[in-house]
Amino acid sequence: MPRPLGRHQITVLGALARHNRGSWDARCAWRFRSLACTVRVLDSLVQRGHVTRTSATERYTIAESGLNVLGWYTCEACTRLTRSPVIEEVSVSRRRVQCSWCHPGGAARPRAPRAERTAR
Ligand SMILES: [Zn+2]
Repeated sequence: MPRPLGRHQITVLGALARHNRGSWDARCAWRFRSLACTVRVLDSLVQRGHVTRTSATERYTIAESGLNVLGWYTCEACTRLTRSPVIEEVSVSRRRVQCSWCHPGGAARPRAPRAERTAR
């Protein structure tokens, strides 16, 4: 398990997610303490893979794993953010994330094997 994020990292990640559709650069209005401090924390989040940085524009953008840390998931079908995703293991290395609107049956539906479903 990777070590958990620090308090400052969570704070900055949350601010990043809420403003400007998840992206930040030096012209943005919000800062965490100072410009240098904001950049330092954002860079540490880039190293953790929760944020991506575009070198050319010095713009930081939240990554899906960063959203996941905050409890948000991007629906693969409609690209909306959801706090109550339906996550299905499609294979060992692949999972499908959908919001309850896109997933037939919604979040309450128990996971059933495909063959069983078509047999009825
Ligand atoms: Zn959806």
